[in-house]
Amino acid sequence: MPFSKTFYIENLGCAKNQTDAEALASLLMDRGWRLTQPEEAGLIIVNTCGFIEAAKKESLAAIMDFRRAYPSKKIVAAGCLAQRYGDELFTALPEADAVFGNRTLAAVTHLAQSLEEKRVILRPENYGDLPQKRINFSRPGSVYIKAAEGCGNHCAFCAIPLIRGPLRSRSAEELCAEIRFFLEKGVKEFNLVAQDLGSWGRDFGAAQAERGRGAIGLAALLRQILEIAGDFWLRLLYIHPEHFPLEVLGLCREDKRLLPYFDLPFQHASRKILRAMGRKNSASGNLALIEKIRETLPEAVLRSTFLVGFPGETDADFEELLRFQEEAAFDWLGAFTYSAEEGTPAEILHRKKALLVPKKTALARKKEIQARQEAITEKRGGRFTGITTFLLAEEKTSDQMCLCRAWFQAPEVDGLTVLHGSAPAGTLVQARLLRRNGFDMEAVKI
Ligand code: SF4
Repeated sequence: MPFSKTFYIENLGCAKNQTDAEALASLLMDRGWRLTQPEEAGLIIVNTCGFIEAAKKESLAAIMDFRRAYPSKKIVAAGCLAQRYGDELFTALPEADAVFGNRTLAAVTHLAQSLEEKRVILRPENYGDLPQKRINFSRPGSVYIKAAEGCGNHCAFCAIPLIRGPLRSRSAEELCAEIRFFLEKGVKEFNLVAQDLGSWGRDFGAAQAERGRGAIGLAALLRQILEIAGDFWLRLLYIHPEHFPLEVLGLCREDKRLLPYFDLPFQHASRKILRAMGRKNSASGNLALIEKIRETLPEAVLRSTFLVGFPGETDADFEELLRFQEEAAFDWLGAFTYSAEEGTPAEILHRKKALLVPKKTALARKKEIQARQEAITEKRGGRFTGITTFLLAEEKTSDQMCLCRAWFQAPEVDGLTVLHGSAPAGTLVQARLLRRNGFDMEAVKI
């Protein structure tokens, strides 16, 4: 095999996709491959995203860019786009030497070996176990821990169940072992991710539940993780609002390592649109949940996601969403426009021209939400000014300044904190928050 056992992985898409890239790297390194930069690598793996139109385009462009830059290297299209469009991609994209789906990551070693002779397409039908990873591509001191793969919620707009398959939870033992592994490496922040963390363990049969000491449900998993000794942050990302276990609030009060930071993608507020999205909750029910969280944990930080432009969304529906945004007053909010995805339950609505929301309208609605959210985030963020807290140092920018995150700033999606003072990257440093600066904070080391 002339091409050297060196590889580079370009990860696109979400945190869950990143944990796949880390698992792929761990598997190859276990078999003697060396992770390096694209210039030096014999094999380049592009871990694609296939969730919505924009992400697909970005993934294809990345593959073409690598091919242009490295005409003779082996290039693999991996990840969600490869899983979702395997055969079409293999035919339509000769620039990729291989197409590798994400249902059985362990097959990557076999793929790498068979790449010498010919182009390869590898998309095992069955679902392999999620391998334990030992590589971390995140910023210093922080790691994503994937608690489960797949999703059984089938929200009408979402292609994830088509790509990632049904819910498959990793056992509490496996997750605790992975957390201990990175804790021993000095990691300070564990970001628990899944398509819907609130569904963790629902797929466990009796035997698995027994093995997990009856651990069914997110709260039970968190109790086991919090038995691990050590100074760390535990953050929860992506809990479907209908599956938010209230016991978690009590756990946050009992153990401050479990951050009162909740990412609850409510998506919309109009009952008509929520039902069309395949969601059972309501604006009033969601506001009651938010009130319950803030009543129990006044310092709680809430992040959410809105989807606008779903077929059938009228001005009145959008007004309802704006009212909900005002009343909920999230600390952080991401807004997206609906992307028509074939094979999703909403696909049938695409054919009803009368229901379709013009792209221009959807974009204008997204912009309006973002504009309003800026003021809300700034106002909400003001309550942290003057407090003393710990920051996770990420990057030293000078002898007397470094970029950090406070517990209420999740990686990659929320603002940063500029610290006046120095601290090694990946460590927790005590500081007083001086002022807000847009979405960011300024702080001084104490
Ligand atoms: S909860 Fe809904 S939106 Fe999230 S991954 Fe599952 S189906 Fe998609």
